[in-house]
Amino acid sequence: MGLMIEVQVARLAPERFEQVLEEDSYRRFAAGVARAGDTFAGRVIWNINSTARGGGVAEMLQSLLSYARGAGVDARWMVIEGTPEFFAITKRIHNLLHGFPGDGGPLGPHERRVYGDVADRNADELSRLVRPNDVVILHDPQTAGLCRAMIDAGAVVVWRCHVGVDIPNDEVRTAWRFLRPYVKPAHAYVFSRLGYAWSGLDRERIVVIPPSIDAFSPKNQDLDGATTLSILAAAGLVDAEATAPATFEREDGSPGTVVRRAELHGTSGPPSLVDRLVVQVSRWDRLKDPVGVIRAFAEHVTADDDVRLMLAGPSTRSVADDPEGAEVLAESREAVCALPPRIRRHVHLASLPMDDREENAAIVNALQRHATVVLQKSLAEGFGLTVAEAMWKARPVVASRIGGIQDQIVDGETGLLVDPTDGRAVGHAVTELLQDHPRAEHMGQRARNRVRAEFLGPRHLLQYLELLDGLQARP
Ligand code: UDP
Repeated sequence: MGLMIEVQVARLAPERFEQVLEEDSYRRFAAGVARAGDTFAGRVIWNINSTARGGGVAEMLQSLLSYARGAGVDARWMVIEGTPEFFAITKRIHNLLHGFPGDGGPLGPHERRVYGDVADRNADELSRLVRPNDVVILHDPQTAGLCRAMIDAGAVVVWRCHVGVDIPNDEVRTAWRFLRPYVKPAHAYVFSRLGYAWSGLDRERIVVIPPSIDAFSPKNQDLDGATTLSILAAAGLVDAEATAPATFEREDGSPGTVVRRAELHGTSGPPSLVDRLVVQVSRWDRLKDPVGVIRAFAEHVTADDDVRLMLAGPSTRSVADDPEGAEVLAESREAVCALPPRIRRHVHLASLPMDDREENAAIVNALQRHATVVLQKSLAEGFGLTVAEAMWKARPVVASRIGGIQDQIVDGETGLLVDPTDGRAVGHAVTELLQDHPRAEHMGQRARNRVRAEFLGPRHLLQYLELLDGLQARP
């Protein structure tokens, strides 16, 4: 039996984008779709990462690969297998790449051995599947160790890094030093912003491709007001009677229903129907700063009785490559318990069920739509898909002035950018949008237009096509 797991990906018609794109953009996309079938005839495009669910990379692969398959391209997705020690090391590398020490552990010869052993075992298996001229796209630090073996297998190899920082510090450089020998042989290196590109890599192989969201997935598809509330009621996130079925459309077009409940970890029951919600959706990760969000809300957001904070994240039992989740959720719960009782009951922590990925996505969708203001107070963020998701839903967003968030939000126009270490500024920006409804609504509409123009799947797929066309033509 193999180590790696193949994730099943649907086949979706790229033609559906005609419904949401501007005419010109759709025409360019349709031409790319027509070309892709020929370019990749007889070849497989392998995408390799370390988790089938949870986090932005899994989110994007599911969607982009479905449209690639719908365009007649044999795109596949495999997940590497690793030991708990391997994932502790790669989580350390992830934190370091964001400029934070993480668990503070070393990246020495022992870590190299553990990392290399796992990479070699996965590479052995993958080498048996990959044929010369296939494309292998390796995502993030967990898979960098497979580059060399995939080149030896005759594949065109792209390493894509979804994390990065604007200004590298010693932590960042430590991670680069560790990973660079593994990454270097790749034919191309993809970063989400130019500023994230590492020193010591061949500049000519560096390509910038920002992430994107899927307008039609259960996470982002349109939901009417009654369905939104019914989904939240079914999940136990709002105390209301359902007035419509809690349904959504699955990726394969079949109907889905939200039946599982979220787990609430705060000290009070769910908010009521009339409460206005400030929502942050994130994995339970210190870089998303849940404790900072709780404090900024408690100390600096308007004390109106109908305003509530909801921090929502995946159930911590479920995300295999994230060993810190349960710890961070526990810290968040302690931070809520430490608040004065009057404010405490305004703060809700919710673990969303992950048994059914699409059901989880529908709950996130409803929560983002129901939010009066969406917050993303990350301390580091490669891109921040949750920002684009909220913008697509025409929500007013307050988010950190860092990383890829700055490419999405034009400050004051399509959202508000704040210094995430300044709790007062965060609180004031949220209060501003809570109090100025017309401005918030206008901002939300502009946010949706920006996502339509820049951050949907077609732009992303065309950039991949262009990159792979270029690599194909290389000497
Ligand atoms: N997400 C989710 N369920 C959750 C929490 C997060 O589906 O309970 C999704 C979220 O909607 C987004 C992705 O996980 O699509 C997170 O991507 P982002 O780029 O914001 O951050 P990352 O987790 O990759 O650091």
